[in-house]
Amino acid sequence: MSIPVIKKQLQKLSLEEVSEVLSKGLKSNFAEVSVEVVQCPDLSKAPWELAAPGLGGSPRIAEAGGVRNLTPLPKFEKIYDMKELAKLVDLPNALLIGAGAGPFPYVGVNSELIPNLKANKPYSNQSRTVKLCDKNNEKTVLAKLPSDESRCGLMLNFYACEGSTGPVIKVKAKKRTGDDDLVGCMRKALAEAYGTKPVGVGGTFLMKTGTAKLHVMPDFSKVPLVTDEDVNNWLQYFLVQGPLLFMSVFLSHDPGLEFRLEHTHGYSNVDGGHYHYDTTPDEVEYEGYFNVAEFVYRIDKPN
Ligand SMILES: [Zn+2]
Repeated sequence: MSIPVIKKQLQKLSLEEVSEVLSKGLKSNFAEVSVEVVQCPDLSKAPWELAAPGLGGSPRIAEAGGVRNLTPLPKFEKIYDMKELAKLVDLPNALLIGAGAGPFPYVGVNSELIPNLKANKPYSNQSRTVKLCDKNNEKTVLAKLPSDESRCGLMLNFYACEGSTGPVIKVKAKKRTGDDDLVGCMRKALAEAYGTKPVGVGGTFLMKTGTAKLHVMPDFSKVPLVTDEDVNNWLQYFLVQGPLLFMSVFLSHDPGLEFRLEHTHGYSNVDGGHYHYDTTPDEVEYEGYFNVAEFVYRIDKPN
């Protein structure tokens, strides 16, 4: 059976214009901010770990599946192959980064996925998973997926592009003075500037210093998760020390696609998970590279 896909074109905006909007928003939330359009450095080299050199070429964002594949009870038939998702966004050789759920048939339990895959020419899989490992759900295990394991489970938000170098937006933000996390702050700035005309962004950023609040999904719940409170009580929260490397996708406004507006996953040397915010405003320092999407795709929206 073919997977349903909805594709929408987004407004054409220059990186310079978007940079100015992001800069204004970030300056209201961080003490030190710089936002500029630069030629993308090689993000396959340390401290970056992308599966391709850059964030350039035919940028697009997508959501496959969704939280409703997890709640109230998991739909175990919802497994996607990231190589196939690359084809569904019309980029069979795509670099694909973002945030989703791990391939439970391989991992053995539910897990967080930090997708980081070049689907072809050349194929490279730098994706990570994070799962809980003991009975009390107090410890996490970070692992790299085997090269040939390119599946994800239930849901995936991703940014896809050709993986080439080219102009991108470089963001630096230090010492948080407002209440918004880095991603939420940028998304809100775009929503304020462009209202109901959606702007989609994807990229990677480092939280160089400070501590972040992350969650990791435990194994699948045997009791239905009906309310947001049920989900919150089920998730396991952790404070994780930087440096942390994140992959992020966000959309300023949902154009009726039931699209998750922000989704960011990341990892350190030992831990990882779903990003909520940093908990150390005085110490925190972020640096990242982002690109603006030309299209948004909604793949296999839950019924
Ligand atoms: Zn997540």
